[in-house]
Amino acid sequence: MNSLVNQWLQTIRLSTKRLQQPIARMLLAQAHCACCGDSSGQHPFLCDACFPHLPINHPACVQCAEPLVSLQSGLRCGRCQRRPPAFDYSHCSWQFTSPVDHWIRLCKDRHDTLWLRRLAHLMNSHPPAQLAQVDGLVFIPSSRQHLWQRGFNMAEYLAQHVSRTWGIPIRKQTLYKQHSNDQRGLSAQQRRLNLRHSLHSGQQSLHGQHLLLIDDVMTTGATMSVAAEHLKQQGARIVGCWCLARTVLR
Ligand SMILES: [Zn+2]
Ligand SMILES: [Zn+2]
Repeated sequence: MNSLVNQWLQTIRLSTKRLQQPIARMLLAQAHCACCGDSSGQHPFLCDACFPHLPINHPACVQCAEPLVSLQSGLRCGRCQRRPPAFDYSHCSWQFTSPVDHWIRLCKDRHDTLWLRRLAHLMNSHPPAQLAQVDGLVFIPSSRQHLWQRGFNMAEYLAQHVSRTWGIPIRKQTLYKQHSNDQRGLSAQQRRLNLRHSLHSGQQSLHGQHLLLIDDVMTTGATMSVAAEHLKQQGARIVGCWCLARTVLR
């Protein structure tokens, strides 16, 4: 009987240890800076010395958020002057360069949910100036196939986090997505064509509203432009974009 009790105790000890290990790893990861390993400061996963060195996306084009060389604010890039996108302004919190690009890949390719929460905090630490005037948030939904493959829609997670933090409602059923090929590696024109066939408008009345499209990475702005066209067709007055990161076109 005693040996049976000992076996049970041993099993309980082992199971507790197995449960404790990932929890301990997570707490340890939260307490240490993700860049240098030092103790993290007032930011959730970075120390006070590393946080100011993150690649902030400023100065940038006010319409498409492409990084600009000029330090003058309020400028539009040559591309937006020649052929303006359908959205009215953009704000990308960070540049899609090291280490932010690596962290986003951890979320998208390795499905690391700890990094998903961290990046949502990081995005909210640098919001757009227009936030107080926004009536609602919109994210581009994933197709069923992408959702099944990835298990989550990063844009939806970020939109929910923004909605909770700033008390702005999400406008649902405004956009619908059918399955399309991965947008990565496509030119702006190919992205537009790909999206025109896969993105559809909802039947919502968005008359006079100021909406903010939320996404993880803005590459050429083509995706957001097609989405903005659909929102304006439903009556939206102003459509802005807020993305976690902006790729740097060379
Ligand atoms: Zn650090
Ligand atoms: Zn631009």
